[in-house]
Amino acid sequence: MKLEGLHHITMITGDAQKNVEFYADVLGLRLVKKTVNFDAPEAYHLYFGDERGSAGSILTWFEFAGARPGHPGAGMIHTLQLGVASEATLDFWADRLTAKGYASERAGRTLRFQDYDGLQFELVVAEDGNPPLRAEHPDVPGEHAILGLEGARAYGRDHDAEAPLLTQTLGFSSLGGGEYRVDGEERHFHWAYDPATEAGVQGAGTVHHIAWHSRDADHVAWQQRAREAGAHVTPVIDRDYFHSIYFREPRGILFEIATTSPGFAVDEDPAHLGEELRLPKQHEPLRPQLERVLTPVVNPRIAQRERVQS
Ligand code: ZN
Repeated sequence: MKLEGLHHITMITGDAQKNVEFYADVLGLRLVKKTVNFDAPEAYHLYFGDERGSAGSILTWFEFAGARPGHPGAGMIHTLQLGVASEATLDFWADRLTAKGYASERAGRTLRFQDYDGLQFELVVAEDGNPPLRAEHPDVPGEHAILGLEGARAYGRDHDAEAPLLTQTLGFSSLGGGEYRVDGEERHFHWAYDPATEAGVQGAGTVHHIAWHSRDADHVAWQQRAREAGAHVTPVIDRDYFHSIYFREPRGILFEIATTSPGFAVDEDPAHLGEELRLPKQHEPLRPQLERVLTPVVNPRIAQRERVQS
């Protein structure tokens, strides 16, 4: 039984419209689902990824409108690494980010930048053989598209002490010095800890949790295995687009394990993902009031399609 690398990473933002503009327009990802937080339905939950919303490409945000900026500290993820095809692509993104008003910094085969909330990213030349997970955007040529997530870095106390929950229970390979790899059948992911002792502040621009990808058939076995290792694991929760379990890893980061199925086309035509507000079944009766309180956000796909047709 192997984890198939990453499923998704979830962050917090204070502004859903800026979130859509940055990820679905500046970075050229596809907004694949516009829904609300299961536990706080007055808050958006927005999902971005490749054309199909494939596991391994998904970044999601809870919007808490007007949330104060946070910052990462011990027990929090601080940097997300997105794959691209070549060094020429790093030049393309340095230019595009500048044109959109965002600074970036080149270091060898990496381009570092922050989003509008201060969340730290690195574009890295992907060399692990991950199948490309591209979205289409009229201003981002296919050869320069972002290709999915390659890795993430977190802060932790005793950052280089090997964690048996990661290696023995979840099957990560330890590379030493706090660096790990997750090797699925198809996809790979780099996971690492950097030293920090001070706590961070959860808020806009910080990561809420990371979800690893399980085959549907293995999901309950992962729950059992994590429980046997002493983790406090939740029951299996139906998240509409996948099934999930949650537990904290030893340094305090919230881990989720999520299934492949049913995926984002379960309640929308694949050609129109993320264009309408979808609500979890139990919150459907709240629709009239949610549509009043949630600031409308427009999926750039709609405007792009109209531009092409006119
Ligand atoms: Zn999640």
